Amino acid sequence: MEPKNNCKLCKRLVKFRNKNKVLFPGFFNNRVLGTGPINSNLLIVGLAPGLKGANRTGIPFEGDFSGELLLDLLFKNRLLIDSNKSKESKNLMCRITNAVKCLPPKNKPNTLEIKQCNTFLKAEIYRMINLKVILTLGEIAHKSTILALNKKVSEYKFQHFAKHVITKKILLINSYHCSKYNINTKKLNISDLDKIFKYIKNLLSL
Ligand code: SF4
Repeated sequence: MEPKNNCKLCKRLVKFRNKNKVLFPGFFNNRVLGTGPINSNLLIVGLAPGLKGANRTGIPFEGDFSGELLLDLLFKNRLLIDSNKSKESKNLMCRITNAVKCLPPKNKPNTLEIKQCNTFLKAEIYRMINLKVILTLGEIAHKSTILALNKKVSEYKFQHFAKHVITKKILLINSYHCSKYNINTKKLNISDLDKIFKYIKNLLSL
């Protein structure tokens, strides 16, 4: 189950989307679905589309700073196979999605929006029958994923590079979000995120 074209479940986000359709008519301005193979064993979960990133291109983590950074690290760690670094679905060795599929004002979805869109994240995760590792970028992505997995958020505390055993088969790993803000303020170093990808690569024997 995926959100419909121009999903209307979150009133505030629909209003914001319609405003952006006028301000940025060339942008995608719609819900952004996950990309990459559904039969992959790795899922990366971000927060929500960025205005000039996924909301513009229609592809998660495509077209802005955080997307470029993620793309570089995926390529470096052989999770993106095409040398032209195009993040088209066919080139990815993992799936990439967002906890909230529509652009929220100021990049901040509210509790209701997170909950409403969780239905779709849950459906996406349950379609990934080969899933072994989930990497969540940021605390909201972490909490949303725990919710989607039917676990208690209070039992899985978000911490950078924390590893949470979800089932015998699935490990969830946390990282701070690779946003420009987090890099500029040094909350996250690129090398620290690279270490996480190297850890995942070894775990999945890639
Ligand atoms: S955030 Fe999710 S539930 Fe809300 S309108 Fe967008 S696709 Fe629908």
